[in-house]
Amino acid sequence: MFPQQELHPVSEFVSKYSPQLRQQIAVILSNNKMLNMYDDGEGSYDAEFQENDEIYNAEATLNQFGEVEDCYCSCHKECCDHIYTLLWCINKKQSSN
Ligand SMILES: [Zn+2]
Repeated sequence: MFPQQELHPVSEFVSKYSPQLRQQIAVILSNNKMLNMYDDGEGSYDAEFQENDEIYNAEATLNQFGEVEDCYCSCHKECCDHIYTLLWCINKKQSSN
């Protein structure tokens, strides 16, 4: 999904989000479309999103340096809003620690 030759920290992905994308994420979160988010404490995160009676499951895996190694979403779109939102929330969580 993301270029594999270089890994980037979550904060770097988020810093490149366009204003439009940030707005979309704000709408998703304010409408409570992100149902929950799990953090296994070892770099794996996943979240469920509700959209038009469908539940989508987004996952992100970070390595020991906090760099995004892998992302997946069950909606099977390339770089979907679900993954963007999950990364956004991971970054928020990291920066509040
Ligand atoms: Zn998705």
